Amino acid sequence: MHPFSYTRVSDTRQALDAGRTGGRYIAGGTTLVDLMRETVERPEALVDISGLPLDEVTVTERGGLRIGALVTMSEAAAHPKVRTLYPVVSQALELSASAQLRNMATIGGNIMQRTRCTYFRDVTADCNKRAPGSGCAALDGYNRTHAVLGASDSCVATHPSDAAVAFAVLEATVHLVGPDGDRRVPFVGFLLRPGNTPQHEQVLKQGELITAVEISAHPRPLRSGYLKVRDRQSYEFALTSAAVALHIRGGVIREAKVAAGGVGTVPWKLPAVERNLIGERPSESLWSAAAAKAAEGARPLRHNRFKVELLKRTVERQLRIVGGMK
Ligand code: SF4
Repeated sequence: MHPFSYTRVSDTRQALDAGRTGGRYIAGGTTLVDLMRETVERPEALVDISGLPLDEVTVTERGGLRIGALVTMSEAAAHPKVRTLYPVVSQALELSASAQLRNMATIGGNIMQRTRCTYFRDVTADCNKRAPGSGCAALDGYNRTHAVLGASDSCVATHPSDAAVAFAVLEATVHLVGPDGDRRVPFVGFLLRPGNTPQHEQVLKQGELITAVEISAHPRPLRSGYLKVRDRQSYEFALTSAAVALHIRGGVIREAKVAAGGVGTVPWKLPAVERNLIGERPSESLWSAAAAKAAEGARPLRHNRFKVELLKRTVERQLRIVGGMK
């Protein structure tokens, strides 16, 4: 591990001052410390923000939920409001990592976590994300777990967060504070596709800090859930996943929100699936026909062609589960 300085801050102003001069924020440390041990990340200065007052889930004036950036994954998953209003978030969190990691890792850190591409974590491999301009070893390497949607010639890595898929499907908002003040960014625009600059993964500016993720109150009750398909049933990243939220009234689907994980370079919204559901009555044939649209635009690699069919089946199964809820 490379030498670094460590500063623990107690208020946001101190954090921003340290961040502005290049300090890297750390809270639970479950991603960054791993990467520092492997010398993938070599920050010169760490700024410990775990003492900031960003550790509560609160109901907003308009009835939405604001999840502080330092709320742990396990706290957020267990919160009664999250469980009852947005089970898709609870389920996504509970299907992530291990219990020990969920007790340490924060919501802010979870959406900032870096890819699990093995070449990214191997400092001897070519990787445009870790070393811009060096190439992408995954393109001609073993790419079974990589993206089939949203990739570029520079990078085909998936985004690893399950919670991010749930936040994307609910059209959450990320609250930021920085040297220039506060701002809000729609979750769907917060994470960036790789394009020619895969090293840039979010819209954060130098020194900006995530303060919360907010889910707006929904005018109509949504039934929702998250399904994750992986190589083993514990402590594993998604091969495919589906986040589904539906509003069904009078036997008709009035609103549909569907997103996928494990297949895209960012959490992947599925508007073609949503369009096929709205205004229809739930049925086996509807789930199947809508899910058939899930992989539109997919560009599989040599070893991950199976993800195209698996994605459709994952979405179909989760539509059936959520659509059948009472
Ligand atoms: Fe690096 Fe992305 Fe290629 Fe993986 S897929 S080796 S992260 S550039």
